[in-house]
Amino acid sequence: MIAENMVQLGQCKQIIREIAAYAGERRAVVGADNVFDFSIGNPSLPAPPRVNATIRRLLDEMDSVALHGYTAAVGDNRARAAVAARESERAGHAIPPDCVYMTCGAAASLTIAMKAIACPGDRMLVLAPFFPEYKVFVENAGAELGVVPPADLSMQPDLGALEAAIDERVKAVIINSPNNPSGAILTEQTLTAVGDILRAAREKYGHEIFIISDEPYRELVYDGKTVPFVPNFYDDTLICYSYSKSLSLPGERIGYVLVPPSVRDHDRVFAAVYGAGRSQGYVCAPSLMQYVVAECSQERPDVAGYDGNRRLLYTALTEMGFECVRPDGAFYLFVKAPGGSAAAFCERAKKYELMFVPADSFGVEGYVRIAYCTTEAMIRRSLPAFQKLADECFGRA
Ligand code: PLP
Repeated sequence: MIAENMVQLGQCKQIIREIAAYAGERRAVVGADNVFDFSIGNPSLPAPPRVNATIRRLLDEMDSVALHGYTAAVGDNRARAAVAARESERAGHAIPPDCVYMTCGAAASLTIAMKAIACPGDRMLVLAPFFPEYKVFVENAGAELGVVPPADLSMQPDLGALEAAIDERVKAVIINSPNNPSGAILTEQTLTAVGDILRAAREKYGHEIFIISDEPYRELVYDGKTVPFVPNFYDDTLICYSYSKSLSLPGERIGYVLVPPSVRDHDRVFAAVYGAGRSQGYVCAPSLMQYVVAECSQERPDVAGYDGNRRLLYTALTEMGFECVRPDGAFYLFVKAPGGSAAAFCERAKKYELMFVPADSFGVEGYVRIAYCTTEAMIRRSLPAFQKLADECFGRA
C-alpha cells in the first residue's frame, strides 16, 4: 500500500504539458514553422548577460568546494542581504536580511508559506483566475482551497464575494499579481479594500489571516505600471518570489519567501517558514544560483520584446472579433472562448495548428490562456491561422 492520493496526483493529466507535447508531435509532422505553440509559460527572453557572466566568473574564481557546497539552511547571507536591499527599496523602509528564506523557485516558496501557516481544517482562498498548482500546494499543506471569482473583465476580484467567502476557517488569501493567466495587476484600490476586509475578519474571528502574495511576474509589467509592495496594504503578508520569469531562470530553481517585519509575531512565523522548509526538504537552495542572486538581484528583464508580442496579439485578436483581457503584466493573453466552451475552442484551434490552453482549471470557465512568451516571428506567422479560426467561430467562413 502506498499513498493513493500521490498516485492519483502523479497520474492525473497536466493539461498544459499535454498540449505542449501535442505541439511537439505536430512539429514532427507538419514542420516547426507551421505549428503555433502558445501553451507553456517558459520565458523566451535570455537571462540578462550579467547573469551568465557572473556564473562564468564564479566558476573560474570561486573555490570549487565552497561554490558547490551547502549554504546555510535558510540561505547564503550575501544572497539574503541582496534580496533584503531590493525589497527595502520596494517597501520604502528597511527590511532586514533575516526576513528572507531562500528557496527553489516560487513553487517551493508557496508550498513552504502554506505549510508554515496551515492548521488542520483551515481553508485558503484564492482569487480567480489562478495558477492551477495552488490547489496541489494548498492540499499538501492539509488545507482546503476556496475560489473567489473576478468581478468583471478587468479581472479585479469580486470584493463582495471575497467578504462572503471568509469564515472562521479561512487562514489565508492567495493573490498573484501580475496574474497568470490574465496578466491583470491588482490595483492599489483593490489591495486597500482586500486589506480592510482581512483586518475586519481577523478582528471578528480572533486569529491570524495571511495574504500569500505570489509574485514571480513582478518585473514583467508594461505601460509604466508597477506592482505595489503588498505588506504596505496588509501587515500579515508573506511574499513568495522566484527568478524564474524575471531573470529567465526557470530551470535553475531559485527564489525566496519574505516574511516582512510587519508580520505580527514575526519571529515565530519566520521559524515556521524555516520549519516548513525543513519538513519538505527545501533547505540550502542551489548555492551557485544564490551567489548569482547576491550579485544580480538588481538586474531587470528587458520587457520590450514581450511588450511587442502583447500589443501585436492583443490588437490583432481584438480586431478579428475575439474578446481579450488587456494584460498589464506577465506574458499571457486571456481570451473569451466564442461559443462558451474553452475545451471546444482549443480543439477547433488545433485544426489550424494553434495550441493554447483552456482555462477552466484556472478557476474561470469559458476562457483560454495564450502564452505570448514566444517569438514575434511565430506570432506573425500565426495570424492567418487566427484569422481562419475567427472566421469559422464568427460564421464568416
Ligand atoms: N506561480 C505562478 C503564478 C506561476 O505562473 C508559476 C510558474 O509558471 C509558479 C508560481 C511557479 O514558479 P517556479 O517555476 O519559480 O516554481
